[in-house]
Amino acid sequence: MDLDLDGDTLREECGVFGILDHPDAAALTALGLHALQHRGQEAAGIVTYGEGQFHSERHLGLVGDHYTDAATLARLPGSAAMGHVRYSTTGETVLRNVQPLFAELSEGGIAIAHNGNFTNGLKLRRELIANGAICQSTSDTEVVLHLVARSPQKSSADRFVDAIKQMQGGYALVALTRTKLIGARDPNGIRPLVLGDLNGSPIFASESCALDIIGAKHVRDVENGEVVICERKADGAVTIESIKPFPPRPERVCLFEYVYFARPDSIVAGRQVYTTRKHMGMNLAKEAAVEADVVVPVPDGGTPAAIGYAQESGIPFELGIIRNHYVGRTFIEPTQQIRAFGVKLKHSANRAEIEGKRVVLVDDSIVRGTTSLKIVQMIREAGAKEVHLRVASPMITHSDYYGINTPDPEALLANQHADLQSMCKYVGADSLQFLSIDGLYDAVGGIPRNAQEPQFTDHCFTGDYPTPLVDLVEENGRSPKQLSMLREAG
Ligand code: 5GP
Ligand code: MG
Repeated sequence: MDLDLDGDTLREECGVFGILDHPDAAALTALGLHALQHRGQEAAGIVTYGEGQFHSERHLGLVGDHYTDAATLARLPGSAAMGHVRYSTTGETVLRNVQPLFAELSEGGIAIAHNGNFTNGLKLRRELIANGAICQSTSDTEVVLHLVARSPQKSSADRFVDAIKQMQGGYALVALTRTKLIGARDPNGIRPLVLGDLNGSPIFASESCALDIIGAKHVRDVENGEVVICERKADGAVTIESIKPFPPRPERVCLFEYVYFARPDSIVAGRQVYTTRKHMGMNLAKEAAVEADVVVPVPDGGTPAAIGYAQESGIPFELGIIRNHYVGRTFIEPTQQIRAFGVKLKHSANRAEIEGKRVVLVDDSIVRGTTSLKIVQMIREAGAKEVHLRVASPMITHSDYYGINTPDPEALLANQHADLQSMCKYVGADSLQFLSIDGLYDAVGGIPRNAQEPQFTDHCFTGDYPTPLVDLVEENGRSPKQLSMLREAG
């Protein structure tokens, strides 16, 4: 999480990668980050350790813009490396916030990169500053560095554990010291992190697709609440140790990883993301059937679900929208005005498959409704007879505070309208249906939602947050309950 100067929380989406004991550590990290680029497109950083010191390159822009030339990689020598891709929602796209963050501590240097948000980061940061800490960035990853620095523990691994025990929220963290590469997931396991292996070199990555690109083996997930410490010993041997510093609890991966965030070819918590998305589309077809001539995905996010919808309904699947691949995600554009414009840059209607037809339009999710509004209009202008919008996830009624870029609750389409009819009218469709929460659970887990024995976190759709939201409640003076009351009132 980032904090702007007024103390407001700025959310970010990220991906992390790390590798120990490989002669091409920096180049492999660049490749891994390239495969994780969908998790953050604004900035990328790599830190290595080699030749007796740490080296750092941090840049705004895409991985491919900076880390493909030999000169940059030559500035990142060493057989241990870690990196980060990042996308933040507001103006704080400044270099000082680009991760990994690095600090010299009494026992040697440490670099840390983080995917997720700390829900008590602001509180801890204020306490640290009140006690004399000097913060250089507005990123709360820096809070972890300070807590590591202040820990009374001796070894860097123990200090790291000491620090994360004070943090709440959703996180996948990777840290690099002179001899160790550490990976950690929060007690609920909200954000994913996998352990890989490339001929004996251990790897951490946000998603398994970052292992595939370098031909590494997917060993297992780092478990919720687990800290995995990979160490290169003096004799050159690499050891891997697992610590469980938190009381055990069920894993609760964020369902939004399956709905939208993760790449379809990744395996998240043992489930193939592509398959879960197709199932979401199949369940959507069962729940929200409509007579139509063609199923059209909103690319790329809606494509697997649209394939599932077409297979289940028997309605032909066609590419009725062509995506321009030379623009980034719509969300990259920081203002609502530019975002609205951005959709046109990204998608155009394929008139041949749309004119005179009854179209089922399938997207993965609706957040603000910007995409839907533009796409429905575009399909109509291309001559569709009817446009039926089908969304392969439930209505998003609550903001995320764990590393997914959803806006404040008031900006969510579902909160701006009293009912489905009103939303449908707003986006200009003939009909609008969302996947039910049970349909989503069935697609991902195969069993219905059980709030008593949670299998996932579904807070975006239900408001059932898996951790306390200390900063939100204390600092902004608004509890999620107040926020949802606000929603019900308006
Ligand atoms: P909307 O236009 O309704 O605000 O956003 C919905 C579109 O953005 C969908 O097509 C979906 O693929 C994409 N999207 C949904 N959630 C997120 C998110 O958390 N981050 C980003 N970057 N894009 C999202
Ligand atoms: Mg999309």
